[in-house]
Amino acid sequence: MSHVFPRHTKSDLPVIASGEGCYLFDKSGKKYLDGSGGAAVSCLGHGDPEIAAAISAQLEKVAFAHTGFFTSEPAEMLADLLAENGPADIDRVFFVSGGSEAVEAAIKLARQYFIETGEPQRHRLIARRQSYHGNTLGALAAGGNEWRRRPFAPIMIETSHIAPCYEYRNRREGETAFEYGQRAAGELEDEILRLGPETVMAFIAEPVVGATAGAVPAVEGYFRRIREICDTYGVLMILDEVMCGMGRTGTLFACEQEDVAPDIVTIAKGLGAGYQPVGAMLCTAKLYEAIENGSGFFQHGHTYIGHPVACAASLAVLRAMLDRDLIARVQEKGDRLSDALHTAFGQHPHVGDIRGRGLFRGIELVEDRATKAPFSPDRNINKRVKAAAFKAGLICYPMGGTIDGARGDHVLLAPPFIIEDNQIDELVTKLDSALEAV
Ligand code: PLP
Repeated sequence: MSHVFPRHTKSDLPVIASGEGCYLFDKSGKKYLDGSGGAAVSCLGHGDPEIAAAISAQLEKVAFAHTGFFTSEPAEMLADLLAENGPADIDRVFFVSGGSEAVEAAIKLARQYFIETGEPQRHRLIARRQSYHGNTLGALAAGGNEWRRRPFAPIMIETSHIAPCYEYRNRREGETAFEYGQRAAGELEDEILRLGPETVMAFIAEPVVGATAGAVPAVEGYFRRIREICDTYGVLMILDEVMCGMGRTGTLFACEQEDVAPDIVTIAKGLGAGYQPVGAMLCTAKLYEAIENGSGFFQHGHTYIGHPVACAASLAVLRAMLDRDLIARVQEKGDRLSDALHTAFGQHPHVGDIRGRGLFRGIELVEDRATKAPFSPDRNINKRVKAAAFKAGLICYPMGGTIDGARGDHVLLAPPFIIEDNQIDELVTKLDSALEAV
């Protein structure tokens, strides 16, 4: 009998044995194509010797030194490289151990910024209904999945949720994509005014929505309008790139494609590429200086912030991405994957939408393609697709809660950046057979 507490207590999972490139192998020898990099994590694939060498070199020097006493070379070098290659104005990097922690740090920094700058009444957070920001209480409160929040609602911070930018379902007939984006962004202004602008601290959104929607990018101009609204009312803009960041969409940061400068960005997953558990909260000099010139102490932290081994692994991952020109490869292979998905599923009766950017692609599964009617949640389509794909030797990331965080199914694909054309074909063929089986 196992003593591990698994998340799904009734599941009977195979034991992982090894990984190589885009494939994972379980103990029985079964081979799986990692079509989603787990949950958009394994961007370099499995078993990369350079990353393993960077980790063991750091382990041999020193594994851990508490950030209350020391900084470390890998943390300093990684922060420099991220700030150098990051969105405009981003200047400081706070390292944590994962995505939820990064989002917690972002929320707390936003709050503390307003305390330090003499606006302590600003405490409200606005997020979007189609979103996932993590599973710790603050991040969970921000997330859009009502079913995730419901059991913990009495012990969570209050958050408002506005509509996402979700062209497939929400753009009206006769409206251009741009007009739709301006209308969708307008919901933020309405909500700020409803709450009272002087009480709102931040708006948080994923530039390309991942787990809850299957790679949904915003339409052109949406995020620029969001930025304008935030500026008008002095609200901070937090972009959660935990899933879509670190090259996944074809630029190092997804927000580069939106032409906006966020106040805070969160990253994780692809930062350590699965080689170490790591995340980061990046912010502008303005926010950092508010603390530096104020209390001088960010009231947040964990034992493992800035862990030297995690930072050494992430530094090696980021250098690999830059030195091997992998982000250009994401664009090229992403186009190839998009074409293959359109060829295979463009006319599929149960595929309503095919979307995404770079190697971050999603398909939305519907009961009826013409009316866009979703499957009833009790049919468990996403779970059945996941199981059928897994049986066929494909790891993909199907989730429910696509529509307003409640109904709807999609499949999210986020393969390693090293994927080859024949593996893209294998991925699409296996996904096709899984959809057929369901
Ligand atoms: N934010 C986004 C956009 C995510 O997709 C996730 C995880 O899927 C998180 C935050 C939470 O990250 P973690 O699971 O590493 O805590």
